[in-house]
Amino acid sequence: SLSDRLGGVFDRLRGRGALTEADVRAAMREVRVALLEADVALPVARDFVDRVTEQAVGHNVLRSVTPGQQVVKIVHDALVAILGADESELLLDVTPPAVVMMVGLQGSGKTTTTAKIARRLSGRDRKKVLMASLDVNRPAAQEQLATLGTQVEVATLPIIAGQQPVDIARRALQAAKLQGYDVLMLDTAGRLHVDQALMDEMKAVADIADPAEILLVVDSLTGQDAVNVAQNFSDQVPLTGVVLTRMDGDARGGAALSMRAVTGKPIKFAGTGEKMDALEAFHPERVAGRILGMGDVVSLVERAAESIQQEDAERMAAKMAKGQFDMNDLRGQLAQMRRMGGLGALAGMMPGMKKAQGALQQAGGDKVLIHMDAMIGSMTVKERSKPELINAKRKIRIAKGSGTTVQDVNKLLKMHQEMSTAMKKLKKMGGIKGLMALLG
Ligand code: GDP
Ligand code: MG
Repeated sequence: SLSDRLGGVFDRLRGRGALTEADVRAAMREVRVALLEADVALPVARDFVDRVTEQAVGHNVLRSVTPGQQVVKIVHDALVAILGADESELLLDVTPPAVVMMVGLQGSGKTTTTAKIARRLSGRDRKKVLMASLDVNRPAAQEQLATLGTQVEVATLPIIAGQQPVDIARRALQAAKLQGYDVLMLDTAGRLHVDQALMDEMKAVADIADPAEILLVVDSLTGQDAVNVAQNFSDQVPLTGVVLTRMDGDARGGAALSMRAVTGKPIKFAGTGEKMDALEAFHPERVAGRILGMGDVVSLVERAAESIQQEDAERMAAKMAKGQFDMNDLRGQLAQMRRMGGLGALAGMMPGMKKAQGALQQAGGDKVLIHMDAMIGSMTVKERSKPELINAKRKIRIAKGSGTTVQDVNKLLKMHQEMSTAMKKLKKMGGIKGLMALLG
């Protein structure tokens, strides 16, 4: 991670007075590499590094921490400041219907995100929401939104074949006004590349609908390209915010920094999966942690807290660390993982767990969680509390009882082992609280 690399650069500095410009510049070369590895656009990285260099030069080197850690903290804080210090909600405090317009390239996740936001507004915020698709280019795009609407129990504007986007927008506004909707969500068409016809269409719709929010939807995996896209859209319509999708993937958060720098607008949400509940408020400090390679531990802890009490988590961690984490506990964990959105939602969030998760994913993803539950169900009470009892003969019995194979049973045992090891490591790092302190 960046911390490790900076450790090398700064080792010789320990115990000296203030950070000199030369020291800081050496460190900033590492920071720049870390940013580029996290997919931050080059000009943005350059600009950021220049700014942070200024801040860091002259900083006193504290005795209590290494200079490397100190620079990481300075960089971390600067990242958080640029990403936006607070979570940013939608601003819909206008005469209803408040229009939310979604723009972005094709495949960025506009339609999915439209439905996710509509679900959140109608459920959590108790708003009466209408959705309308203005995408007349992509076959069945309007039907896609209607299907999602049924799924999240949000109304969609009836489809009239052959109507153009501007006319659909007009009709949607009228329907929303007449039928007393609080929010109208407009899902627009996207092209694979930015093109002027699309931009003009989008501007015409914005003129008519006078949106309270124009949200640019960006695929966080597009990394470097995301900047050009953001620049183009930002030049043409008055964006009010950004939604980053596919934050559940390998994105290292760099797109977030680039988006913020280019549009100057807050990132309002992060999409974290294909399911309708996979939408989160954007947390700058987590993304900063991700960019710096610290893993998204806070997210993980918060998610865990949603489904179980914090004490349970701590107790579990303590048990694991002592090696008392048995199959009953693992079974509880698997059920919890499923509640937390399956493997996809968890993958890559926590450094220590990555290995166990990788192995699980390889073994067949979420389905495997159900198999594992069945295997533990086929164990005797004794075997569950003392997995080391499970010899070859017992493995065959368990596999038969659960409709799996001995290989599957072996994988389960291995995973149990890996989780125990990861937890021991976590304990060495100061436990979950210690990790959170590192981030905060
Ligand atoms: P649009 O062309 O911009 O409307 O994009 P869609 O909403 O149709 O999304 C394209 C694909 O991306 C679909 O398969 C979605 O399920 C998927 N998708 C959208 N958002 C996310 C996300 O946050 N994470 C993941 N993993 N997939 C997403
Ligand atoms: Mg779409």
